[in-house]
Amino acid sequence: MQKLNNVYLGNLLVSGGSDTVCPKCSSNLVRRDGYRVQLTGLDESGLCAECGWDPGVVVSEYAG
Ligand SMILES: [Zn+2]
Repeated sequence: MQKLNNVYLGNLLVSGGSDTVCPKCSSNLVRRDGYRVQLTGLDESGLCAECGWDPGVVVSEYAG
């Protein structure tokens, strides 16, 4: 299931058009504003800032 979650979030980061929420605590993780992606709910390690869930995505590609 964890692998499915990774694919789920990864797909949303790449091609999704809406916000992404944490599957564990429903915190908003990624906010999309047109072509811009803001990692609003992830800490500096790429984990959910609320519950520590690891989305398993390459955060550095977007966080720079
Ligand atoms: Zn969470």
